[in-house]
Amino acid sequence: MTDGDAPHGTGPARKGTAGSGVPAGGMAKQAQRQIDKFLASARGLHPRFCPICGARAKFAVFGHPPRFDARCTQCGSLERHRLFALFVERNEFFKPGQVVLHFAPERQLTPLIQSVVGTYETADLSTRKPMTHHTNIEATGLPSDHYDRIICNHVLEHVDDKKALSEIFRILKPGGKAILSSPVVEGWAQTYENPDVRTPAERVVHFGQADHVRFYGRDIRDRIKAPGFTLAEFTAVEPDVLVYGLNRGETMFIATKPA
Ligand SMILES: [Zn+2]
Repeated sequence: MTDGDAPHGTGPARKGTAGSGVPAGGMAKQAQRQIDKFLASARGLHPRFCPICGARAKFAVFGHPPRFDARCTQCGSLERHRLFALFVERNEFFKPGQVVLHFAPERQLTPLIQSVVGTYETADLSTRKPMTHHTNIEATGLPSDHYDRIICNHVLEHVDDKKALSEIFRILKPGGKAILSSPVVEGWAQTYENPDVRTPAERVVHFGQADHVRFYGRDIRDRIKAPGFTLAEFTAVEPDVLVYGLNRGETMFIATKPA
């Protein structure tokens, strides 16, 4: 929003209350309400197609800072969910009879998986939502060599990824595959971790979210391969970016446990 677009009554907040009669905190809340209202109604410039629900629409705003072309207005899918949907459809990644485990399950993806496979299980550390397993990804207690497919999106940046990846490797069947994704800065050779960053507020500034413990560089590939996985990738390229509203260059990793 430029200065010229500022709605009436939301001029610069003054510390004193002289003139306005509204305390500075009240002015800040008013301004935030105006921003929220604007963001709620803002849409992308071009209609996109959602491969999950079939909607053709201008997508809505999501994220901090806001992405103006991110969320399907019908099913709520984000760019990374649509990338996932394209990959699994084009590669027949899920098959009848498979045993599948979905960590921190995204509601936008569950129907795509559940409608195809034999057994669909979910897992999360939090006990706030119903799950098949309330468990820690770093030490799940789940049986070895058990799952055909594991889904683990935007989890590794929250946890001890060395332990989590070893655990995913252990519980996959030989020949089993995991889809893994996390925010990655491809321009960085090395992942950024910092033992001096301890508080949620510091983690927001350093890692982008209060509960993130690192920001991956392109060496995420070496970290994934460390337990013994072979690695393939699926990247958002044109014309998919334009058609489906994806993040340019966003990459999903497909890790295979050798048979
Ligand atoms: Zn949709």
